Amino acid sequence: MMKDNIAKTLIVVDMQNDFIDGSLGTAEAVQIVDKVKAKIDEYKNRGDKIIYTRDTHQDNYLSTNEGKHLPVVHCIEGTQGWEIRDGLYVEGSEIINKPAFGYTGWADYDFEDVEIIVESANKPAILEELKTIGIDESSMFPEMEHIMSSVNQNCIIQEPDI
Ligand SMILES: [Zn+2]
Repeated sequence: MMKDNIAKTLIVVDMQNDFIDGSLGTAEAVQIVDKVKAKIDEYKNRGDKIIYTRDTHQDNYLSTNEGKHLPVVHCIEGTQGWEIRDGLYVEGSEIINKPAFGYTGWADYDFEDVEIIVESANKPAILEELKTIGIDESSMFPEMEHIMSSVNQNCIIQEPDI
C-alpha cells in the first residue's frame, strides 16, 4: 500500500466532458468550468497537490447495472467525453479512474488538508434515475464520506455556485 504524506490536496471529481457538455452535460455545468479552473489554479500556483477522478466505463456500459438504470452512454474509456475538460488538468497530477460511482481507495492516502470539487449541476436528473436502484446522493459521491471520515480537520466540499 502506498502512503503519501500530503499537506494540502485538491480532489477534482469527474470534471469530464460528458458531464459538462457531453451526453450528461447541462448548461449549468458549462457555467461552472471557469470557477473550477480558478480553484485548480490556486493549488497549481502554490505547488499543492491535485488529484483528479474520472468516471470510467467500457463499451458494454448499457449492459451494466448502472447502464440499465441510466441508459445514457457516457465516459467510455478513451473517448473525448471521458477526458477531463481541456484546461483543467495540471500536468503531472494523479488521475484515478473509477469503474463505478465512488472510489474506495482513499484509505491509502494520508490527507491532512483536503478540498473536494464536485460538479453537482447535473445531479438532479441523474439522481432520479439512480434512486430507483437504491443509489442516493451520498453513495453517488462516496468520495466525500470516505474522505471526511478519514480526515478530521480541514476537509471542505466545494460545489461551485453557478
Ligand atoms: Zn457513470
